[in-house]
Amino acid sequence: MKKFFAVLIAALFLVTTPAQAEDLGVGLSDISAEKFNVSIEKFYATLPKAKGDYKSRQRPIVIEGAMNTETEILIRALKNPVAYRELNYLFVAGTYKDYPVVIVRTEIGVANAAASTALAIKKFNPVAVINQGTAGGHDLSLKIGDIVIGEKSFDYTAFRSAYSAAGAGIDLTKQENIGTYAYDKMSDKFQAYTEYFADPTLFNIAFKVANANENFNVVSGVIGTGNSWLECVDYVNFLHEKYGSSCEEMETNVAAQICQNADVPFIGIRVLSDNVTNDNRYVPETAKVAQDFVLLVVENYIRDVLKK
Ligand code: SAH
Repeated sequence: MKKFFAVLIAALFLVTTPAQAEDLGVGLSDISAEKFNVSIEKFYATLPKAKGDYKSRQRPIVIEGAMNTETEILIRALKNPVAYRELNYLFVAGTYKDYPVVIVRTEIGVANAAASTALAIKKFNPVAVINQGTAGGHDLSLKIGDIVIGEKSFDYTAFRSAYSAAGAGIDLTKQENIGTYAYDKMSDKFQAYTEYFADPTLFNIAFKVANANENFNVVSGVIGTGNSWLECVDYVNFLHEKYGSSCEEMETNVAAQICQNADVPFIGIRVLSDNVTNDNRYVPETAKVAQDFVLLVVENYIRDVLKK
């Protein structure tokens, strides 16, 4: 009987255990990420739901991540977490190092990141927004697990191509970036920006944390955003050469844009989960590295700037 149960459990284990990430190569259907996610979905279900509007004496820091894998560690780090749901986006408010912090699961892509950032700004009135998560490398010298502190970001899909006649073929390397529109305080109008810059205070603190923690491999760089996943190495190399892109992902630049509209300090921080220029793998578990690093940035920001 005992043996029967042992065999049954072993069989169940075989059926329910997903393949390892290494077996899958580069691809969007990462079973490993789902495996990593099961516990967080259960944990989210246990979070107390907020009653009424958010109230805080201090303006919170907002930290964003698109997926469960990119928010789990942050949410678990909060004391007294309370969940808000707004237009089906999840916001979890609590404290970290005795300072109010709100984690936003933006969901994937530019529209979701813009909408959830706007909602977060309206609902929580943050003192700063940090967008973080995974990204694909555009720089041969960067490895999976390395961190890019975004000194600036841009939308690599916002371009005007050069004219070419029907039948002349496709050459997207003849292009000019035309930017995306954000509010300009000086002119009191929306205008096109081909790049958005990190808040200098947040940038300096992120760098200080990088220098003090040698276990993280950190560079400053340029984050490219778009609703795309590029695996054409020639095009990736082109973007790297033309725009200096360090990595690509799907949220940072629009979050930066909305923060500029609302005059909220912003920074994007990304860990490489993949780098098609030098490595044919996708390792979504690297999301942990970005969250660990960002928690240190937040801790330093609270201590050295907000509580001073
Ligand atoms: N693991 C997910 C797929 C994620 S795809 C799933 O199976 O559902 C894209 C997400 O990962 C985006 O939020 C984006 O910001 C980030 N990302 C990581 N590497 C990327 C790359 N090479 N190109 C574009 N987005 C990337």
